[in-house]
Amino acid sequence: MTSATAAARMPTLIQGAYVLTMDDALADGRYDVRLRDGRIHAVEPVLEPLGGEVVLDARGKVVLPGFVQTHIHLCQTLFRNLADDRALLDWLKERIWPFEGGHTFDSLRASADLGIAELLLGGTTAIVDMGTVHHTEAVFEALIDSGLRAIAGKCMMDAPDTPPALAESTAASIAESLALAERFDGAGDGRVRYGFAPRFVLSCTDELMRDVARLADERGLWIHTHSSENTDEVALVHARSGGIGNVAFLAELGISGPRTVLAHCIHLDADEVATLASSGTRVSHCVTSNLKLGSGICDVPGLVDAGVHVSLGADGAPCNNRLDMWTEMRTAALVQKPIHGPTSMPAELVLRLATRAGAEAIGMGDELGRIVPGFRADLQVVGFDDVLDGPMGPPASRLVYACSREAVEHVWVDGHHLVADKQLVRADKAEIGQRARGELTALLKRLGAPAA
Ligand SMILES: [Zn+2]
Repeated sequence: MTSATAAARMPTLIQGAYVLTMDDALADGRYDVRLRDGRIHAVEPVLEPLGGEVVLDARGKVVLPGFVQTHIHLCQTLFRNLADDRALLDWLKERIWPFEGGHTFDSLRASADLGIAELLLGGTTAIVDMGTVHHTEAVFEALIDSGLRAIAGKCMMDAPDTPPALAESTAASIAESLALAERFDGAGDGRVRYGFAPRFVLSCTDELMRDVARLADERGLWIHTHSSENTDEVALVHARSGGIGNVAFLAELGISGPRTVLAHCIHLDADEVATLASSGTRVSHCVTSNLKLGSGICDVPGLVDAGVHVSLGADGAPCNNRLDMWTEMRTAALVQKPIHGPTSMPAELVLRLATRAGAEAIGMGDELGRIVPGFRADLQVVGFDDVLDGPMGPPASRLVYACSREAVEHVWVDGHHLVADKQLVRADKAEIGQRARGELTALLKRLGAPAA
């Protein structure tokens, strides 16, 4: 840690903000919020500044928990705007897999730095990330240096039809995953943890997925994969599994339960919904990606009513093309209303999915996702604008329907001030952009692809 980053974890008093606590007992309202030693130390109507404390005047602004995005691919940020207007399986085979296969350590690091910068500037403080097959240590190093909280893992692809640049044997995939877990699980003062990331059923053998389920169970690690995103994918899984659904097939292989995050879960039968609910399996809803790839619309109100745990994620930059929780919240709310009616997916529920539910999905529901004393100081200050999102209105409505990420002014993770006055504290945005352009240019050249 540099002296500059050490200095950024200062005792801080945020004064006069409207606080969306996301708590059941502590009502929303105007409070002063004290941050000390990486925790939310006090939330009171009035707190007097203490000696040595940084005081932030947040009158007219909102404090809310940092967003938790439960499905991200930092390895793909470099490929934003280069894989548009395709269906899932073509999108993967024609663009994403060749691009990922072209990564070096340096290009992957540039991609991760780019994504992390975007996430932090938009108020996201924690992610569940799926890396690519090779060089995933670059993603871990970027996460550790940035201060972002994450569960991350290398992508596992041992199916026989995997493109050569990404293909790996079952044993090699498991061995490399375990080596990365050994090295990085608990890194960054515990902010970075390991999650196995078998890509999806079609990229993996049964043997690999059974091994992953067993090893994750033995070691208390997370599993992060995709499921039931697209009807073609579901049909292929049906054919392979002897006619059972994708979620049911994963559960049969042991990939299920509260330490499993399944991205998408659009095309489910009633039994699979019941399985998700009874097992406590986490669903990451990625609405923009689902719309852009034409995959379908996840029945989030139905899942929530059935007791399924749902949180939100932007997925990767090439299928979104933003890693922006503000877009995800607004779209997740709007897309359900023509189907389920205008009262479905109210702003308060959407905010909960974006914060507290995400914290629960990563096993930290008793430490993150609420602004209450004792919780970790992962939070954001958002400034309102009378013209762009006002002049007034309930804060939850204003945040979900009217605000955008440009309103995020300050972000802390574990009490480290990572965005201050809309600027990255630990990194130089211009340098990240410039390095990303350079690495993408070199990667496209390696692949013999036309320059972007
Ligand atoms: Zn994905």
